[in-house]
Amino acid sequence: MLTTRPRGTNDLLPEELVKWHYVEGVLHQVAELYGYQEIRTPIFEHTELFQRGVGESTDIVEKEMYTFLDRGKRSLTLRPEATASTVRAFLEHKLYAGSLPVKLYYLGPMFRYDRPQAGRYRQFHQFGVEVFGAQEPSIDAEVIAMAMDIYQRLGLQNLVVELNSVGCPDCRQAHRRVLQEYLKEKLTDLCPTCQGRFEKNPLRILDCKSEQCGEIVAEAPTIDQMLCDDCHSHFQLVQEYLQKLQVPYTLNPRLVRGLDYYTKTAFEIVAQGIGAQSSIGGGGRYDHLIEECGGSPLPGIGYAMGIERIILTLEEQGIEFPHQTKTDVFIAALGKTAQKKGIKIAQDLRKAGLVVECDYLGRSLKAQLKAANRLQAQTTVILGEAELANGQVIVREMKEGLQEEVPLEELVASLVQGKKEEK
Ligand code: AMP
Repeated sequence: MLTTRPRGTNDLLPEELVKWHYVEGVLHQVAELYGYQEIRTPIFEHTELFQRGVGESTDIVEKEMYTFLDRGKRSLTLRPEATASTVRAFLEHKLYAGSLPVKLYYLGPMFRYDRPQAGRYRQFHQFGVEVFGAQEPSIDAEVIAMAMDIYQRLGLQNLVVELNSVGCPDCRQAHRRVLQEYLKEKLTDLCPTCQGRFEKNPLRILDCKSEQCGEIVAEAPTIDQMLCDDCHSHFQLVQEYLQKLQVPYTLNPRLVRGLDYYTKTAFEIVAQGIGAQSSIGGGGRYDHLIEECGGSPLPGIGYAMGIERIILTLEEQGIEFPHQTKTDVFIAALGKTAQKKGIKIAQDLRKAGLVVECDYLGRSLKAQLKAANRLQAQTTVILGEAELANGQVIVREMKEGLQEEVPLEELVASLVQGKKEEK
């Protein structure tokens, strides 16, 4: 127990984090290009926020939340997603009082009590954006295009945007009726979960992954036949804008997504050929969520992408990550006096922008050179007692194995110069 992490969680070790930093760098950069500002909300919120914001009858709220009472007997929940939290913060800080739309992005851990497997964890990370206060279909298309822009910059290939409109509550009500009518006679053939969904949330049956339900819903009436005029024309325009932005997409009238709050546009981005957990991002419009969370009616749209899945897909597709920062200089000090000089030289070099490592174990010269090689240090500075007594140090270029004596007072300037020339 003491040496094992909880199921469904990951330790991100240094080698892995090189990849994370690279992906996160692209995310921050693209968010800025599209005019989004970062927001950081708490890891836990009042449970009620997710019950309201995500929806009582969703898998997330019914089965997947990490909910606990704190010592003051308040029910709190580790956030399973960040849209509800972002809406809460938007309302709490009256961000609507400035100019609209408000465009926010977040990046951080989410928690769901899911069945762990490759690409599915209990603690995972999402990057997401939310746009509050814009109802034009152009923003729907732009949000999808932005997600694709991120994946493309990272080098991901073979992605498909699956697109649907889930309509407004009116279209949904109409769809719900015809769907229940259609499923009524087949109720006993549905999987036990879907039998339970029939009354509460029949739309989710369309999304069921089980084979038996798959066959039944293949013939079921889909929402596209039930869209009202407003939802229909909004959806048409989203598609026109996507074509303008040259974002290819496939229509999937069965795409429902697991959260209750979506209206009109819903989309999912799927990476082909990476197995079961192929959804690397998804989102949609939620024109009633802000109201549901206690605000005045205001439309919204957003998406979230899973960082672990992006990294898995990058690895799967054989995409190279930039290398870890290399050590510029290794300081090999021999003896107490040299060590004292060494630590100061290291600090001066770092202040000048060089990546510097030292020996902290008082090892032999041979062992220190070995350490320098392991770090792939460009240069090793050897501080020997005899050379130091003459105000000299040895500078060794590790690749060629060439070395020369350099006066101590010129050392920092010459190494800084060397680094500049190398660039
Ligand atoms: P959702 O919030 O369910 O719409 O998920 C958005 C994205 O988050 C998905 O496309 C996945 O990339 C990622 N994701 C969702 N759940 C998990 C999980 N349990 N483990 C890892 N990634 C996840």
